[in-house]
Amino acid sequence: MADILKAPRGTRDLVGSVLERFVEIESAARSLFIHYGYREIRTPLFEDRALFERSVGDATDIVKKELYRFEDRKGRPLALRPEGTAGVVRAYIENRLDADRPVARLWYAGAMFRYERPQGGRYRQFTQLGCELFGAGGVAADLEMIELACRLLERLDVPVELKINHLGSPEDRVGYAAMLKAWFGERHEALCGTCHERLERNPLRLLDCKVPACKAVAAQAPALVLGPAARHELDQLLRGLELSRIPCTVDPRLVRGLDYYTGMVFEVTSPQLGAQDAVLGGGRYDGLVEDLGGPRTPAVGFAIGLDRLAFLLEQKLGEAASVAPLVYVVAMGESAHLPASRVARLLRRLQEREALIRGARPAWIEQSLKDRSLRAQMKEADRLGASYVAIVGEDEVAADGVTMRCMASGEQFLVSLSGLGDNEAIEALSRALEKLTVARRQI
Ligand code: AMP
Repeated sequence: MADILKAPRGTRDLVGSVLERFVEIESAARSLFIHYGYREIRTPLFEDRALFERSVGDATDIVKKELYRFEDRKGRPLALRPEGTAGVVRAYIENRLDADRPVARLWYAGAMFRYERPQGGRYRQFTQLGCELFGAGGVAADLEMIELACRLLERLDVPVELKINHLGSPEDRVGYAAMLKAWFGERHEALCGTCHERLERNPLRLLDCKVPACKAVAAQAPALVLGPAARHELDQLLRGLELSRIPCTVDPRLVRGLDYYTGMVFEVTSPQLGAQDAVLGGGRYDGLVEDLGGPRTPAVGFAIGLDRLAFLLEQKLGEAASVAPLVYVVAMGESAHLPASRVARLLRRLQEREALIRGARPAWIEQSLKDRSLRAQMKEADRLGASYVAIVGEDEVAADGVTMRCMASGEQFLVSLSGLGDNEAIEALSRALEKLTVARRQI
């Protein structure tokens, strides 16, 4: 036998219930974002490498160590996108989206790539879902962004904590960077090699190190003292969050791992996630559009890690999350195959009709396509967790009917389809299912 190839380290196939959680989150997000006036945007998976160097920052871990860099056949320096904001900003400028509306609201979902050390909840290919708002500074836009992120988490009903901070004015940050450089400089031996580099290039990044020893030092570091304008902004935002009944704590050492943030930053974590506890992060980045060649434009956004959110949802739903067939259609003997296919088709039409009425997805109807004993097929129905089975065997073929059986109560009876057109047959099956459902409720 040939060698079996495996998915590359740090990547995984999304299958079964994990993928179902992904789709569920994406569809909840899609409807919520539309409700808030956001339009979807899809940008390339790879971009000019300079885009990430100039936005995320060439001194950040994401660009220095984690970027998947490659050159195409013409030697162009490219990179797989490590996050979504840079590409969306590039697209916003290139497509002149500022000309459409004074305020542009965009959302995206897709794969991101970072060469990180894989561990629980940390992958080299992962999925982010994010929103970006261009053209509005100020507290109302910040509030909209945080509220949007929190509303999505609220809809999914997963336990999370919101932390918020303000990075101050550019002057505040320059002074703070100098203060941190001196402070961490005195604790040089306690820091990791990467933090030694950070100390030279970008001391704020020291607050973001995930190495436990560095984290312990950073927890004692002096906090940023905000100037009056930034302080006022943060106070306003906190007041807005209170009015919106969104609980949060101020974390004065929250800086986030990307260079483009300029004002308010926020992060949502979950205690159920272990070491990689961040579910989403975001903030204001008022300089980035201009830095990438566009007009001066205030902007704010966030990105949710779908892999981690899907994990939380899976934990919460547990068994309840698993989907099962409503009816499993069983056929026995050559002559039963076509009549069983008709029963499956009619049951599906019935479910499509019901779904239209309820505004939901049609229930799962599956036909067993294996010619096995009744016992083996019933076992399969049980394994799948089917609620009902429709059995077509020799007797049913002779009577031109189908036996409908409830898995839970064992109750069953023959439903005659003899001489019935499709619509009448659908009605007969509908009545049979209703009768079994009533009986099932009584056990
Ligand atoms: P960031 O772009 O680093 O602010 O990350 C935003 C969110 O994406 C985080 O809160 C995580 O939920 C998720 N995320 C970032 N890196 C990874 C990764 N390597 N694997 C899985 N999720 C990630």
